[in-house]
Amino acid sequence: MNTKTIQQLKQELLDKKGTLSNMQAMNKQTDVERDASLTDVMDRSEVEESWFNKERMSQHWKVELIQIDSALQRIEAGTFGVCEECDDEIPVKRLRVRPDASLCLNCQESAERELGHGHRMVRPSSAPTQFLQ
Ligand SMILES: [Zn+2]
Repeated sequence: MNTKTIQQLKQELLDKKGTLSNMQAMNKQTDVERDASLTDVMDRSEVEESWFNKERMSQHWKVELIQIDSALQRIEAGTFGVCEECDDEIPVKRLRVRPDASLCLNCQESAERELGHGHRMVRPSSAPTQFLQ
């Protein structure tokens, strides 16, 4: 892969990282607002639902940020674009879609097969009653 491509992908990763950090910050902000006002307006299940969605999004962003960071580290280390599993090169076409991909398509697919499809969302047990008092 040439340096220019890597630079482009790096920029993309940095942009994405900035966006995700902003969204996380906003997510935290609305938390505070919700406690003050929304609990009066929304019924219990709605509040639970919105808490749950938000928590899920924030988990999702956290995972993405970790993936982005590790991709940036791979760029610095010069191992970017190499599959972590089989050491094959990850096609640039794939990296343009998923610049934070750490596996080639083959390894990604077998990893997903191992995990099983349709990740079921499990409501965290610490969820929301304590916020509804
Ligand atoms: Zn591979």
